[in-house]
Amino acid sequence: MNEMFQNALPVLKRLEEKGYKAYFVGGCVRDHLLDRPIKDIDIASSARPEDVQRIFPKTIPVGIEHGTVIVRHESVSYEVTTFRKEDEYRDYRRPSKVWFVDDLKEDLSRRDFTFNAMALDTSFQLIDHFGGREDLKREQIRTVGDPNLRFSEDPLRIMRACRFMSVYNMTIEAETKRAIKDQAYLLRRISTERIAIEFIKLLQGVQAGIALKFMKESSVLDHMPTMMQEKQNGQFMDFDWNDLESDEQRWTAILLLSDVSDVRGFLKIWKLPNHMIKKVGELMSAYRITSWSKMDLYRFGLETALSSITLKSAIEKKDYAEEIAQLEQRYSEIPITSRKDIPLDGKEILEITQRKPGIWLGKLLEEMEKKIVEGELALSSSVLKDWVKRWER
Ligand code: ATP
Ligand code: MG
Repeated sequence: MNEMFQNALPVLKRLEEKGYKAYFVGGCVRDHLLDRPIKDIDIASSARPEDVQRIFPKTIPVGIEHGTVIVRHESVSYEVTTFRKEDEYRDYRRPSKVWFVDDLKEDLSRRDFTFNAMALDTSFQLIDHFGGREDLKREQIRTVGDPNLRFSEDPLRIMRACRFMSVYNMTIEAETKRAIKDQAYLLRRISTERIAIEFIKLLQGVQAGIALKFMKESSVLDHMPTMMQEKQNGQFMDFDWNDLESDEQRWTAILLLSDVSDVRGFLKIWKLPNHMIKKVGELMSAYRITSWSKMDLYRFGLETALSSITLKSAIEKKDYAEEIAQLEQRYSEIPITSRKDIPLDGKEILEITQRKPGIWLGKLLEEMEKKIVEGELALSSSVLKDWVKRWER
């Protein structure tokens, strides 16, 4: 048994000792059967949240109303969720109502896809009521029950299907696929934040191009938070998303491939966090630089410069190894990384020049910084002092 399951086993055993049912469920079972690294272990149990809180010494009530309590065991967090079912039709604006149930099968039946609706018991027996293992073998994504119903209950599942397609390199079963096409418009009811989370996971997957192509064909792409069309046919598809290394590169690639003119507007509509908006903005500016001066390198930093080259190389399908080596060399010749590295500050300059502070000081500092970066002024305080004394205006 996998080490992560082994470590979590005492939590399940404890629940059983107290007379409750307990199982490993969801993503961890799926990833285990796929022989993939397991991210986190989720547990489903007949115990109610208050029972779980009573049984374990260390718990964190993260979503009591949905039946979820975190149990801390040997410094690892486990989400223990009471068997539950949900409203058949959700009101997309309000959180859905949940009912606690006593039956594992009922809990599994509310889950989105067959491979997400399996469980493992304490002796590591697989419980698979909906053919999840078979679907994993066939590498297909299939909803538990009628796909039309399941997507209308929660249209986010449409995004999740596309995400799994990309991450696991699977196809979508025919009926499930048809339902996605028919119900793609329901995605408009889902909050941007939830869509963005699935979308970025999709872009991180090994088959992002294929998943994006499917999203286009099934008109899912038309119902994203903001218009996102490819410049020409096949751009998303032909693009090798695996060449990219970070989420800011992925978002910037989307912008470049779809020829978005209002970059900030696009990122705002997608409700990306400010730090991501800033990074994408910088990368976009860096991308437009065709010949990097030392001053450009100094301003953007080596990391952003290299990141823009990675992106360029992916988009143009060209090897930029030589340029990268040149950039690294050029960057290493820059003696400072910020103004703080200059051994002469504003106060000292005022003393040397015996002048009153004013706009001139900012101009002088800027000029001095530029000359140091470009190698025209040595980084020595006596050289700099001399230069300041001779500085005019
Ligand atoms: P990840 O690898 O991103 O953790 P996951 O499948 O574990 O993928 P989670 O969001 O962690 O996704 O959800 C855990 C489990 O909860 C899923 O495996 C699935 O059984 C169920 N689930 C999650 N989201 C939905 C949904 N929108 N509708 C139905 N069931 C869902
Ligand atoms: Mg998970």
